[in-house]
Amino acid sequence: MIGLKVYICTTYTFYLLGSTILWIVLNSSYHFYRIYYSDTPNKRQYEYIIVGTGTAGSIIAAGIPSNDVLVLEAGSMRSSLMDVPLLQPLLQGTDYDWKYRTEPQKYACAALNENRSAWPMGKVFGGTHMLNNMIHYKAETKDFDGWFDHEDELHSFLEYFDRWGEDEMIPIELPTFETGLGTSFVKAAVQAGLEKNLFYKPNVTTRYGRRSTASHYCWEYLQQKHEITLNAQVTRVIVQNHKATGLILDKAGKTYHIKASKGIILAAGTIGSSKILLQSGIGPKEHLKAAGIETIVNLPVGENLQDHITTGMDLVLISKQMPIQPIDLIHPSNIWNYVINDGMNSSLSFGGCECLGFVNLESKFSHKLGFMVLPVGITIDAGLHLRNVINLREDIWQNYFKTLVDQGLQSVTILPILLHPKSKGYVRIENANLHSNIIIDPNYLREKEDIEILITGLKILQNIDAKVFFSEVIRTGSAT
Ligand SMILES: Cc1cc2nc3c(=O)[nH]c(=O)nc-3n(C[C@H](O)[C@H](O)[C@H](O)COP(=O)(O)OP(=O)(O)OC[C@H]3O[C@@H](n4cnc5c(N)ncnc54)[C@H](O)[C@@H]3O)c2cc1C
Repeated sequence: MIGLKVYICTTYTFYLLGSTILWIVLNSSYHFYRIYYSDTPNKRQYEYIIVGTGTAGSIIAAGIPSNDVLVLEAGSMRSSLMDVPLLQPLLQGTDYDWKYRTEPQKYACAALNENRSAWPMGKVFGGTHMLNNMIHYKAETKDFDGWFDHEDELHSFLEYFDRWGEDEMIPIELPTFETGLGTSFVKAAVQAGLEKNLFYKPNVTTRYGRRSTASHYCWEYLQQKHEITLNAQVTRVIVQNHKATGLILDKAGKTYHIKASKGIILAAGTIGSSKILLQSGIGPKEHLKAAGIETIVNLPVGENLQDHITTGMDLVLISKQMPIQPIDLIHPSNIWNYVINDGMNSSLSFGGCECLGFVNLESKFSHKLGFMVLPVGITIDAGLHLRNVINLREDIWQNYFKTLVDQGLQSVTILPILLHPKSKGYVRIENANLHSNIIIDPNYLREKEDIEILITGLKILQNIDAKVFFSEVIRTGSAT
C-alpha cells in the first residue's frame, strides 16, 4: 500500500514537473515567434488606431464603429495560467509588469529601498486587470462630481457600470473560497459601531473562479474584426497642423510609422498614455523644454497624479493558521477542486482580498477611508518573493518580518486605504530619448490630512481588533 502511494506521488510529481517544463518551453517559443516573426501591422494606414489592450482599450476596441482598426499592445499575449487568481502576486515584477518604481518619496515609503514604491502595471494583452485583485463594486455618484459639465452625462456614465455582470460583458461573482477572516472582520466592525452595509465581502470579476477581464470578453470579437499587433511599443504620436495623423511604434528593434485617417485612441494607462503624449511634445511647456522636447501643444499632461496609498503590511498577528498557504499552489486536491469543480472552494480562485470596508469621515466624496482585508501577509513565503515585489528594505525585513517568520507567528494584512488623497504628484520624462526612464512622483503623504486619515484608519483597526468577534482570530498582544 505504501509502495503504491509512493508510486502515485512520484508519478504525480513527474507529471506536474514535466507539464510545467513543457508549458514553459511551448509558451516561450510561441512568444518568441510572435515577437519576431508574426504580428507586424499589415498596412501603413487604418481608420483608427487604439493603443493599449487594458480594460479601457479592449472595451473601446469592441465598441468602435469601424472595421478598419489597428489595436496595439506593448506586452505579449496573456496565458490561461494567468487567469488563476492565486497566482496574481507572482506576476508582479515579471515581464508582464512594466516594473515601474516611483521617485524616492520624501514623506513616505521609509521602509522601502531608496524610499521608492513599486508601481505595478500590466504589460500584457489585458493590461493591469491581468495583475489586479479583480474587486468589483459600483461607482458612487459623489465620487464623480465635477467630471462632467452636464448631469445627464454623469448619469449615462454611471449607468455604464450597471452593465458589468448583467449582460455578461464582464462577469462578476461572489468568491466561494474564504478563510473566515473577512467574516470575523465584518462582525467585529459592526460591533465597533461601524456601518453594517459598508463592510462586506466584495464581488470579483471572475467566471467559475477564473480571472475574467475586458480583454477576455473582447478577444474573439477583436480577433475577427480588427488587426491586433502585440509586443509593439508606441513611442510617439505624429501631430500635423494640430491634428494627430499617425504614430511611431517599435517592434522587435524595427520602427514603423502608421497613419490613422479618423483617429488615434490612447488607452495606455495612467503612465503609458502620459509618456506617449509627453514624448510627442504634448505636455507642460516648461517641463518639455527642460527635457529637450519641442512643445507641440501646451497641456498639463502628467500633472495631478493621485494614488490611494495604504499602510499596515503584516501588522495583525493571528492566533490560528489561515487555510491558505503556498503549498495550495500545487496541492492535488486544491487543483482538483479548481479544475473539476469550477473553482468552488479552491484557494486557487482567491483574488487576495476577502473583505472591504468604508468609512465616510465627513467626506465630500462617498468615503475618505477604506479597508482591505487580506488573509495573506508578505511573510507567507518566508521572504522568497513578496518582499521584493513591494521593494522592502533588507533591514526592515530582518528586524520585523523575519522575526515573525522565525517565531512561527502568523500575520495577516488589514490595510487602511486613503481613498481621496490630497497629496498630488506628477508623471514626467527624463529627456528626449524615447526609451528614457519615466519619472513617477505621487508625492505620497505630502499633505498632513492624508497622514491623519491613515492614522485614524489604524486607530479604527485597533478598536475593531479588540472586539469580541475578532478575538477568535486575533492573538493577544498583536502588533497593532
Ligand atoms: C496591484 C493592483 C491591484 C488592483 N486591484 C484592483 C481591483 O481589485 N479592482 C479594480 O477595479 N481596480 C484595481 N486596480 C486598478 C485597475 O487594474 C486599473 O485601474 C485598470 O486596470 C486600468 O485600466 P486601463 O485600461 O486604463 O490601463 P491598463 O490596464 O494599465 O492598460 C494599459 C495597456 O496599455 C499598454 N501600453 C502602455 N504603454 C504602451 C505603449 N507605449 N505602447 C503600446 N501599449 C502600451 C500596457 O501594456 C497595457 O496593456 C489595481 C491595480 C493594481 C496595480
